[in-house]
Amino acid sequence: MSFQPADNIQDLQYFGEFGGVNPSISDSSTYTFLSAKTMFDTFEGNADGCYLYSRHSSPSNLYLGEALAAMEGTETANVTASGMGAITPVLMQLCDAGDHIVSSRTIYGGTYAFLKNFAPKFQISTSFVDITNLEKVEDAITSKTRVLYCESVSNPLLEVADIEALADLAKKYELKLVVDNTFSPLSIAPAKLGADIVIHSLTKFINGASDTVGGVVCGTQEMINDLRNVNDGACMLFGSTMDSLRAASVLKNLRTLHIRMKQHSKNAMFLAEQFEKDGLKTVYPGLESHPSHKLFKRMMHPEFGFGGMLTIDVGCLEKANQLMELMQHRNLGYLAVSLGFYKTLFSAPGTSTSSEIPEEEQAEMGLTDGLIRFSIGLDNDIERTYQMMKQCMIEVGVMNEVGKLESLKV
Ligand SMILES: *Cc1c(COP(=O)(O)O)cnc(C)c1O
Repeated sequence: MSFQPADNIQDLQYFGEFGGVNPSISDSSTYTFLSAKTMFDTFEGNADGCYLYSRHSSPSNLYLGEALAAMEGTETANVTASGMGAITPVLMQLCDAGDHIVSSRTIYGGTYAFLKNFAPKFQISTSFVDITNLEKVEDAITSKTRVLYCESVSNPLLEVADIEALADLAKKYELKLVVDNTFSPLSIAPAKLGADIVIHSLTKFINGASDTVGGVVCGTQEMINDLRNVNDGACMLFGSTMDSLRAASVLKNLRTLHIRMKQHSKNAMFLAEQFEKDGLKTVYPGLESHPSHKLFKRMMHPEFGFGGMLTIDVGCLEKANQLMELMQHRNLGYLAVSLGFYKTLFSAPGTSTSSEIPEEEQAEMGLTDGLIRFSIGLDNDIERTYQMMKQCMIEVGVMNEVGKLESLKV
């Protein structure tokens, strides 16, 4: 019987140079060379293991990258200053002027804005498709297509991409499959399912402390070398490099990710089941009513669950706003964008994180203005949280006293 661990983070071992249990933080922007020849070789990319300048790489960043590569099962990884600082260099590295991208239409607002408004300046065009419809995806591929782009679990609608099927398509047409796995670290490992490049916004679950932005590109050594190339590497030349001190702090937070993901998933599953029973329109991949429940189940590492993200639809923006304000007032969470914090975070994506997407397109993809996106926190007593949330819903008229739905009559 072959034993397949969910990730290999557990097997990593590195000490500080004085035997510290954490690797020492490299607090230098530049590095000395004992011989001038080595400096030349390093510039030419021929001196493995030599550090040159911290925009290129630094020991602290390499430690974090190594841990994230171990998590995703890729050869290596490059950490960046933000999630967008990982996404944009990858797309610019893979595409030349005249090239084409096929992307899921339900993606992070910033990524959507980049593909829709910025990339065309460089004659890079994008077709946005329903990623759950493989025929539509295949139809959108042209001779100019270089990249197939999606999120494993999409923001904010929680659509699930069939990564294995998309990887087959990518192979058939010689495209790179790039998957943003920010919503489902540990639960889904896209590279093991055939993705070429896996990206995360570390800002979210992976760092989990809402104290920094950060990102990572996980892929082959060849791809990461390309991104870091001093002559034409997009990470090196755009300069979205993570700071060494921050890389060291993200690495320390990463070590509890598996415990946190289990609790996020457990709490989100509980609330989703209760909300659905109460008659609320609830979307959570762990619910059998979710259109991609079976697909998620097939791809996932069951011990980490279906993740911490869920949405409910309370009918209209006014009710959504009232409910979020009251829940914050009762200290059930914060009215804030972002996700993966110990505290529950909620926002109405139509008017916040997805506001880059025009209203007609929001409607077409099913993004209604009464939608509330929850990133469920690490609450120890989720039953009490549920009772208090339900009370808030009754008070703002989303639910009536017996728990039946009120607002969706409109
Ligand atoms: C937040 C987010 C990003 C962008 O990451 P930043 O760290 O904010 O730059 C990209 N993709 C998804 C799915 C996100 O949630």
